[in-house]
Amino acid sequence: MKKIAIFIDFKGTELSSYTRTLLGFADTFFGSEVAYYLFSFAGPKQASIPQLKGSVIGYQINAGNSLFAETTELRKLGDQISALSIDEIWLSKSNTSDSVAGIISATLGFQIVPNIKQITQKGDSYLIQKSIFSGKATAHSELSSSHFVGIFPKGFGSDSNAASVEVNFESLDLETSKKYSIIKVDTHEGSIPLPEASIVVGAGRGMKDPGNWGIIEELAQTLHAATACSKPVSDINWRPHHEHVGQTGIKIAPKLYIACGISGAIQHLAGVNGSGKIVVINQDPEAPFFKHADYGIVGDLFDVVPRLTKILKEI
Ligand SMILES: Cc1cc2nc3c(=O)[nH]c(=O)nc-3n(C[C@H](O)[C@H](O)[C@H](O)COP(=O)(O)OP(=O)(O)OC[C@H]3O[C@@H](n4cnc5c(N)ncnc54)[C@H](O)[C@@H]3O)c2cc1C
Repeated sequence: MKKIAIFIDFKGTELSSYTRTLLGFADTFFGSEVAYYLFSFAGPKQASIPQLKGSVIGYQINAGNSLFAETTELRKLGDQISALSIDEIWLSKSNTSDSVAGIISATLGFQIVPNIKQITQKGDSYLIQKSIFSGKATAHSELSSSHFVGIFPKGFGSDSNAASVEVNFESLDLETSKKYSIIKVDTHEGSIPLPEASIVVGAGRGMKDPGNWGIIEELAQTLHAATACSKPVSDINWRPHHEHVGQTGIKIAPKLYIACGISGAIQHLAGVNGSGKIVVINQDPEAPFFKHADYGIVGDLFDVVPRLTKILKEI
């Protein structure tokens, strides 16, 4: 029977939506002939998860938050996973994947496969499609060893309709060298974190002045969306750097991305082309973004955006 480790993330005491969809996918993919080992950093000791057909054992890793775990701790976690004879490790793309997957795969000698768009079984092998060159191409590969660490985009799969079950998470204590400690964490209050948002409203140099962003924030608030921006806008400090999306910024994959006054340069597209639907608002009908849009509005954003917000508020 295969042993699959899945790193799961919580939002407070609830499973994150992207963990739910990844578990839903794994349940359909593996069926009942599987044992799941669920690992969480800083999650609750007991939590409800969708019922899976395979058996489930939960571990709560006591090494702080994945983002702040030391390299030595993560190596020890790799050793613990190795001792459990785990075959595969699955993660959603998140802070956890960035800081954990590399060290764990190196410790276990597992192949790491990021950006998985599709995975199917072919006998004992897997056929995997993964996104490469910032989403500009898809690589088709065959993986003959099941010893791998797979990183899936947030929202991969679909939520399970199964009833919830309570799982107790056993403590997994990793000794820490205390060479590194976090003094303070500044959180950005009041806004929806970009990587977790299912709707994002982005704006670019077409906004002309940082003082004009009120109309973007109002549209975002109306849609319960996060705000994003193009690189030049954050470079000139019109918007904070954590809002910059693109090749050199955050990569997002919301269900809906509304781009206002952004030309659609390839470097910007590299960060948003995983979006479900793209709406572009631009006064230039030749703006490259329109070629990648599901819906386009040619017009002055200072006219279009407030009207759109007004209509949405009335719905
Ligand atoms: C190595 C490298 C990495 C880069 N990485 C990134 C990255 O990660 N992310 C990123 O975004 N960029 C990145 N860039 C920059 C990128 O090439 C573009 O220069 C940038 O995305 C353009 O930003 P923009 O669309 O906001 O501005 P512009 O290109 O100036 O476009 C402004 C748009 O607003 C429209 N507009 C103007 N006024 C209005 C109005 N009133 N109503 C409606 N529309 C209006 C215009 O028609 C135009 O299309 C990178 C560049 C390089 C070289």
